[in-house]
Amino acid sequence: MAEEARLVGSSYGAENAEMVRQPVLSPDFDFLYKVEASGPFNASHCFQCRKCTNGCPVSFAMDIFPDRIIRLAILGQTAEVLNSRTIWICASCETCSTRCPNGVRIAELMDYFKELAVEAGIRPALPAVAVFYRTFLDNLKLTGRVFEAGLLPTYWVRSRQVVSMFKSGEMRKNVEQAVKLFMKKRLSALPGAVRGRGEIRSILRSSRPHGRSQ
Ligand code: SF4
Ligand code: SF4
Repeated sequence: MAEEARLVGSSYGAENAEMVRQPVLSPDFDFLYKVEASGPFNASHCFQCRKCTNGCPVSFAMDIFPDRIIRLAILGQTAEVLNSRTIWICASCETCSTRCPNGVRIAELMDYFKELAVEAGIRPALPAVAVFYRTFLDNLKLTGRVFEAGLLPTYWVRSRQVVSMFKSGEMRKNVEQAVKLFMKKRLSALPGAVRGRGEIRSILRSSRPHGRSQ
């Protein structure tokens, strides 16, 4: 019995020593006020049930799970949130927002954090994903609707994947697939004429943070 108590005691001692070594977190609630003023996203309603994380189909590829992202945001740990892979991995599927019992708009928060990261000039943890978003929006702005035959080649060039795709044979597979789709009239070689391109452009412009234009 005495031996057991000693072992338990030493185990607690090791845990305490580990806790002492961990950096002390300084909460900064100003970030939460800023987040809610931009939403509201109801982040402060989170009670850490983890239903969001448990339903997320891409949590396996995240470095910080969605419930932790919310917690870090509440505590104002902006560097951890904005530098995370999680905000770029998020597929905006809305599963988390649907499952959340407290109405926390997690999917929208992920988008908002991406915007903040771009605004702050933080290099995206997954640059290729950021390039895809930018290419998608440019494509939409140019033609008024997504022009698939132009979207992917532009993305491959911008994300510097062309050489590796040639070497791996991926490029050939994609071209073969595109030809098949073209033959079945599922892919157009030219962008379609869309009315109201000007309006679409102005919507995209006005949706930029603080009206920035690029
Ligand atoms: S499901 Fe909602 S309340 Fe639960 S941890 Fe996620 S954000 Fe928080
Ligand atoms: S919206 Fe993002 S965080 Fe939420 S479940 Fe889908 S992929 Fe996961």
